[in-house]
This record gives sequence, structure tokens and C-alpha cells, in this order.
Amino acid sequence: TTSTRTVLVTGGSGFIGSNFVQMLAEDRPDWKIINLDALTYAGNPENLKDVESSPNYTFVHGDITRPEDVVAAFDAAGESGVSEVVHFAAESHVDRSILSGLPFVQSNVMGTQILLDEARKRGIDRFVHVSTDEVYGSLGKTGFFTEETPLSPNSPYSASKAGSDMLVRAAFHTHGFPTLITRCSNNYGPYQFPEKLIPLMIANAREDKALPVYGDGMQIRDWLYVRDHCEAILAVMEKGVAGEVYNIGGHNEYPNIDIVHAILKVLDKPESLIQYVTDRPGHDRRYAIDAEKIDRELGWKPRYTFEQALPMTIQWYLDNDAWLQNVRSGAYRDYYSAQYGAK
Ligand code: NAD
Repeated sequence: TTSTRTVLVTGGSGFIGSNFVQMLAEDRPDWKIINLDALTYAGNPENLKDVESSPNYTFVHGDITRPEDVVAAFDAAGESGVSEVVHFAAESHVDRSILSGLPFVQSNVMGTQILLDEARKRGIDRFVHVSTDEVYGSLGKTGFFTEETPLSPNSPYSASKAGSDMLVRAAFHTHGFPTLITRCSNNYGPYQFPEKLIPLMIANAREDKALPVYGDGMQIRDWLYVRDHCEAILAVMEKGVAGEVYNIGGHNEYPNIDIVHAILKVLDKPESLIQYVTDRPGHDRRYAIDAEKIDRELGWKPRYTFEQALPMTIQWYLDNDAWLQNVRSGAYRDYYSAQYGAK
């Protein structure tokens, strides 16, 4: 499309959000982008240093749980208003939700409702809610999650995401508000916070630190390169049918332990670094996505295989060691206050 849009992205300074903003800036250069992000521990303005200077990009430092911050983000669009919202902002780490579920309910459930209310008041064209396959619960050895699979979340994280999905669904059914929901499998790629499996293992292996593997390491996840996920979200935003859910996945299932072996192999590090630790409580055994609907209806398929994109990802972390060290040390917060002033 060539028509000019103004897209409000929430959580654009996080892992997937920053990849999405960079993709939009490259592939839809005429579009205006507003990024509303609270810059929690997971939000890093350095992720967007390449787009920061673009006149089409506006950053709003704010929290989706604060209605006045949400109003400020919509107001940043000026006269023409926001045309689409793409909602990434969330607490995203399962382990943190086990320690404390409340921040997950606040950001993921309350924050989503506050955003929905303001977006509906403004009368935008589309609201894309970025969700996860974890809302479907856990699978046995066979079978796939389809869009019709009942939600049965098992962690406070996935329960809060399922809650937000239900509120988005209700906004469509009750108010006719044009929402779309995407549910994606595990992502990997550049700018992922090093508490998640792949960047954690890369970072530790490089420094010859132990690689903590939960339980027997045989938990199976379906892995998708973040760029493929971003392209799928854009396809849903541009071509999806309001009220619909679209699963996004790569038919790329691997047990966690195989991924750890693959990383050690690429980095030429010994298997003796692997350290089995007590399994995560309630750890889901297997997730696998049936992504046939988005292929059939919107013509989206992943472009990258794991064999291509895992080494690319490892190389990115090797090439961006300063980014990794900054994130690990929290030094990017200094960058932020120098850049924007403390808040
Ligand atoms: P992330 O933790 O890297 O980033 C989250 C971003 O949201 C951060 O920039 C953070 O500062 C911001 N944020 C958090 N709470 C906020 C609030 N109250 N107000 C404003 N901003 C806030 O997460 P991610 O991995 O990029 O995931 C993004 C979205 O995609 C999430 O909704 C997640 O549930 C979903 N998702 C993630 C995956 C995955 O594998 N990472 C898979 C499927 C779906």
C-alpha cells in the first residue's frame, strides 16, 4: 500500500516491537510511527537508535496502565489521528510471572483494556493485538494448536495474555471495534533480552559460564525468526479480517536441549557447560502451532529456516557484544536519561 498511515506501536522498545518498528521504517517509509513504551527492564531505546532521528518516528515515554499516557500517545498523531494500533507492550517472561503475577495482570490485562477504551473512543481503523501460543496451554506428543483450540493457560504470564485476548475479543463482539489477534510461537533473533533461552545460552557460553537447562531439557517449542513474525503481523494488519484470530508459527519444533547443543556447536564450546537445574514449576511440555490459516488467507509463510536464522542470530550477538554487555549491566538506562531526561 502507498497510502500514509499513522501506526501507534506499544512496547516498540522491546524485542519484537523494536524489530517491527525497524521493519516498518524500512518497508513503509511514508508511514508515521508512534512508539509508546514504559521502558521497563525489557525496553531499551538503543534498539531503535537507527530510526530515532527519522522525522516519521515519535517516541512517547509512557505506561499503558496510565490513561493519561495513552491519551498523550494518541495525541502525538496530531490532526490526522492514529490509523492503526499494534499492541506489543506486555510483561513477557514466564519465570518472572512465577515470582510475582501482579505486574502481569496490571500491564497485560488492565493496560490492554485502557488501550482498547482510548482506541475505540478515537475511532481507529484497526487494532492488532499481539498474543502468544502459550494461551492454548500444553500439548502431548502429537497435535497442533489451531485458532479454535480452547484457551487453557498454565502460567500467570499466559493467563494474563489469555485475559487480554478475551478483552480484545469482547471489544469486537460487544462494540464492533475492529480488532485482530495474532498468536505466535517462540521468537528468536536480534535484540532479545538475555533472560530468554537463546540469548541467555549464547551470552553464557561465550563467557564459559554454566548453561542452566530446566528439568530434562525435553520441553518442545516451535521457533520462529522474529523478522518472519513481524512480516506476519504486518500482513494481518493490512489484509486480515476484523474479529479474526491468526496463528503464526514456523513448523519448526525442537526440544530445548537440542537448541543448547546447536549453540555450543556454532560457538565451539564444550558440552560440559550444560548444567541441568530443577524444572520450572508447571512447565508446559510442548507447544506447536498450526499456521495454515494465515498462509491460506493472507499468503504468509516463514522465509527463514532455523538452519539459516539460528547462526545469523548467534552472529548478531557476537557482533553486538556492546549491546549485550549494556543490557546486562543496565548501562542503557544512562543512555536513556542522557537521551530523553530522567522520568
Ligand atoms: P519484551 O519483554 O522484550 O518487550 C516488552 C516491551 O513492552 C518493553 O519495551 C517494555 O518496556 C514494554 N512494556 C512493558 N509493560 C509496559 C507498560 N505497562 N506500558 C508500556 N510499555 C510496557 O517482549 P517481547 O518478547 O518483545 O514480546 C512482545 C509481545 O509479543 C508481548 O505481548 C508478548 O506476549 C508477545 N509474544 C512474544 C513472543 C516471544 O517469543 N518473545 C512470542 C509470542 C508473542
